[in-house]
Amino acid sequence: MLPKNKSLLIISAPSGTGKTTVVRKLIQDKPNMVASISYTTRSKRDNEIDGDDYRFVSIPVFEAMVAEHAFFEYAEVFGNFYGTPKKEVEASIKEGKTVILEIDWQGANQVRKTEPNCLTLFLIPPSKEELKKRLDKRGTDSVGEINLRFKEAINDIQHSINYDATFVNKDLELTCDEIINFVKQYKGLKKPISEHELSIINSFKI
Ligand code: 5GP
Repeated sequence: MLPKNKSLLIISAPSGTGKTTVVRKLIQDKPNMVASISYTTRSKRDNEIDGDDYRFVSIPVFEAMVAEHAFFEYAEVFGNFYGTPKKEVEASIKEGKTVILEIDWQGANQVRKTEPNCLTLFLIPPSKEELKKRLDKRGTDSVGEINLRFKEAINDIQHSINYDATFVNKDLELTCDEIINFVKQYKGLKKPISEHELSIINSFKI
């Protein structure tokens, strides 16, 4: 088990919420934070760089890594496999870094079991309509893919209640400040979900 809290930060969010941008800003602003680069069997998008956004691998390579217990956690999301490499995460933690895992709720459930000291954060969009707009605007996925991701968001967002804190990602600077402040002052208490956050979560049930 990890020695203390704040070594491992999990950030989950429905696709399109903007979590990658948030994670990028966090590691840019906080030199002690690093982001784990996941392995995936998903096809590379045009704007992605292998080894930077993900390590893109074939299904047999991914399966071999599973068999070698090379993953800290892994899951199937939107029909593709994604996994966090164990060695890299452990090496960064040993160096005293805070490692951010940008993973889905299934991965978060796995990590909570092996590393109960991990800190789990969930980002939600300002509204259902704004999420759809952001997914459309991204321009990297097909219509089918966008619809699948939007549909999954309805399920994803209901898992936010299991996280240590939920943040509305309306403004990048504000979200990052809120996350950093929360992590700094964290002493084991969950951040209560606000009325506003609850109303957004509930709007996804309809
Ligand atoms: P995308 O294909 O949009 O980059 O990512 C799809 C989903 O997979 C996102 O919810 C993302 O957080 C999740 N994901 C990315 N890497 C990992 C990983 O290593 N493990 C798990 N469990 N989920 C991941």
